Amino acid sequence: MYQYAASLTRLIEQFARLPGVGPKTAQRLAFHVLNMPEEQAAEFAQALLDVKRQIKTCPECCNLTDVVPCRICGDETRDRSVICVVEDAQDVLAIEKTREFRGLYHVLQGAISPMDGREPEDLRIKELLQRVSDNEVKEIIVATNPTIEGETTALYLAKLLKPIGIQVTRIARGLPVGGDLENADTATLTRAISGRREM
Ligand code: ZN
Repeated sequence: MYQYAASLTRLIEQFARLPGVGPKTAQRLAFHVLNMPEEQAAEFAQALLDVKRQIKTCPECCNLTDVVPCRICGDETRDRSVICVVEDAQDVLAIEKTREFRGLYHVLQGAISPMDGREPEDLRIKELLQRVSDNEVKEIIVATNPTIEGETTALYLAKLLKPIGIQVTRIARGLPVGGDLENADTATLTRAISGRREM
């Protein structure tokens, strides 16, 4: 059977490993790279390596960062008594865009999902508990996604945190159920944060 040259096949295979990219799209992307000027292809390859080499996890909030601590944790003007807990780095960006929230974040790096084999110990929950016990945190806003996994995670966190005397709130409903925080528009997200309720 006829096959593409080995290097082209390899590139197609690499694209096909990306989420949401099927074999046809992978092929189209690989041909696009093939037709790029060489310096553009070099910039693309360099950008891939740079994110892997330069992006670290903030030791305080577990967000992605290129400086330690991250710019939010390092910002003296932010309110340290309230921590907004989110699933991933994209959610931090979405909430920052609202300009509604001036506290700190904690990035869980996922949500509890037994079906996918993601248990509480696979998330950055231990780090959150450590932060809560070390600092004068008064409120935890749980801003996990309005999905089954996000709600399960929110309940789990409330059960852990409330007995140690922390006020736990959940962002208001109104976000599309089953959707992701990162896809919510800024106005909806602003209302969800300001309308948060005690869990
Ligand atoms: Zn941080």
